[in-house]
Amino acid sequence: MITNLTIKDIQDQLKQGKFTAIQLVDFLIAKIEKEDPAINSFVYKSYDLAREQAKKVDEMIAAGKELPALAGIPCAIKDNILIDGINCSAGSNILKDYIASYDATVIQKLKEQGAIILGKLNLDEFAMGSSGEYSAFGPTKNPKDLERVPGGSSSGPAAAVAAGFCQFSLGSDTGGSIRQPASFCGLVGLKPTYGAVSRYGLISLASSLDQIGPITKNVDDARIVYQAIMGKDPKDSTCIGEDNKGEVDIKKIKIGIPKEYFVSGIDPEVEKTIKATIDKLKESGVDVVEISLPYNKYALACYQILLPAEASANLARYDNIRYGNKELHSGDFRESLEEIYRYARQQGFGPEVRRRIMLGTYALSAGYYDAYYLRAQKVRTLIQNEFRQAFKYVDFIITPTCPTLPFKLGERKDDPVTMYLSDLFTTPANIAGVCAISIPCAKEGLPVGLQIIGNFFQEDKLFKIAKIFEEIK
Ligand code: GLN
Repeated sequence: MITNLTIKDIQDQLKQGKFTAIQLVDFLIAKIEKEDPAINSFVYKSYDLAREQAKKVDEMIAAGKELPALAGIPCAIKDNILIDGINCSAGSNILKDYIASYDATVIQKLKEQGAIILGKLNLDEFAMGSSGEYSAFGPTKNPKDLERVPGGSSSGPAAAVAAGFCQFSLGSDTGGSIRQPASFCGLVGLKPTYGAVSRYGLISLASSLDQIGPITKNVDDARIVYQAIMGKDPKDSTCIGEDNKGEVDIKKIKIGIPKEYFVSGIDPEVEKTIKATIDKLKESGVDVVEISLPYNKYALACYQILLPAEASANLARYDNIRYGNKELHSGDFRESLEEIYRYARQQGFGPEVRRRIMLGTYALSAGYYDAYYLRAQKVRTLIQNEFRQAFKYVDFIITPTCPTLPFKLGERKDDPVTMYLSDLFTTPANIAGVCAISIPCAKEGLPVGLQIIGNFFQEDKLFKIAKIFEEIK
């Protein structure tokens, strides 16, 4: 029914009476119930809320009212973003019984804009992972090839859109968790500039890196969703919501290709596809130049200090006392408060989360703070400055989104170091805070994502260039 439609098409057809919002919701619910057991993208369903919202949209249409930007558009949300009255697990056993008591700012905005929320989507536990396999709810499969991973940590958000269960989803991106799964599932995924979208109501992973953004089937839809969720929020003091508008003239722009991104380790298929896309761009008259970003190669190492450090502090709040998982309260182990903590955190967190808490605690400990955390912060500034310099010279930077094709389930699950390499090309944008989008660029075979990185708060231009690329390729 909606598989090949855009947000605009759906709204046009709703207005023309081709189908009602309720019919659309019922169609998708039936599809999810039938097909999702094989994919495992949903962890909680909010069908009552969806039907309630759809009814309101149908009433607005019947009354001839003007429709808000997302009226009647079905979506689903990564399960680390709070929706009032609905479970929020962050993919973790420790939060299995937690029910959110308020809406995240992005959810409040989606509701105001008339979007229809079908449920919560699977993710790597606390958004740590690149394959979706580190979820307490089991792995999600890639709808393009069920033997492969959909990417992570926004595994469910990418799989649900690729499977046609919803028109768009919201994910979170701390080191690539929107862009990498979007690239693995042949979709568009945006990581907004740090401070463009409110983080209020997002379960924090690393607060200085986290951003919420859309995963969609095309660039136009991503722009519409981004416009609906961005903006200053008094509830998140880091969110200033700047929105610089500007024109993009393909004959006048300059695109930089950092040579450091085409070195060893990149899959030949990915390299070939990206290079073919770059050739197409050149043929279309775009000025493409080679640039050098020498500090970018330290971004992943820097990320691997900063992320665990911040995560270890953020996750210290989960003691399973005020809220959490009822099962972890039982037993005769509660001899002391410390025992309660120890048991709940040992049983409640999976191995990857425990690994990062330990790494982060180590990096922040008195004897090692200067050598690791402080040094990583200094490198972060160098990387940030390097991007600022580059954007004086070029308008956008393009790179592959991920060095590899979507890999097979189980292939990297027990090999954290190889798993971390998935983030090689996506972490620089988080470390610097700039915006970046992944768009699909493979004509056949497995999906490959092209990453376009833009300057701070240049999302408007980023969508314009991404749209041009979408048409050229
Ligand atoms: N793959 C990254 C990691 O495991 C992604 C984190 C994220 O963006 N949430 O850290």
